[in-house]
Amino acid sequence: MLLPLTLHPALFGIVQGGRFKDLREESTKAISAMGFDGFGIGGTFLKEDMGNAVRWVNEILPPEKPRHLLGIGEPTDILTAIENGCDTFDCVAPTRMARNSALYSKNGRLNITNSKHSSEYIPIEEGCDCYTCQTFTRAYLHHLFDAKEMLAATLASIHNLRFVVRLVDNARQAILDKQFLEYKEQFLKEYTVGG
Ligand SMILES: [Zn+2]
Repeated sequence: MLLPLTLHPALFGIVQGGRFKDLREESTKAISAMGFDGFGIGGTFLKEDMGNAVRWVNEILPPEKPRHLLGIGEPTDILTAIENGCDTFDCVAPTRMARNSALYSKNGRLNITNSKHSSEYIPIEEGCDCYTCQTFTRAYLHHLFDAKEMLAATLASIHNLRFVVRLVDNARQAILDKQFLEYKEQFLKEYTVGG
């Protein structure tokens, strides 16, 4: 059976070029000319170069087509990439962090194995609508990690993934409200305070 056109698999061209502006531009022009459905931005770059590398590419790519940034998933990096024109992301970071007991919160990353969480009968993050936060306390998560229960990684992953999806949902709304830079500034102010 033929799928509706909107459901056909989209083929993305991948832009490479590392941290070199001339190579990024050459790669972007070549890939842009090939008529892909969207574009992936790949290749290695240092974290501090990411904003530049992404901006060089996005200034050339066709504005009407989606841009996917490969391998970026840290909350602060996602906001930098959005600011420089990226639409979608994929990364192992949220689940890898979760398996290693690092949980995202709006006040920064918290390590749930820290003994101070053993008697905190509150959610990982107040106000979070994920299953883990709606159902369990920090103390319970601490216990699960302490007991090396596999459920710990599952519950922690549910929270970290929801945190990242909410971050991007809020960024999208902030863009629509023409408030993105204010949103980013406020997020970073709170995110780097705690930990
Ligand atoms: Zn949560």
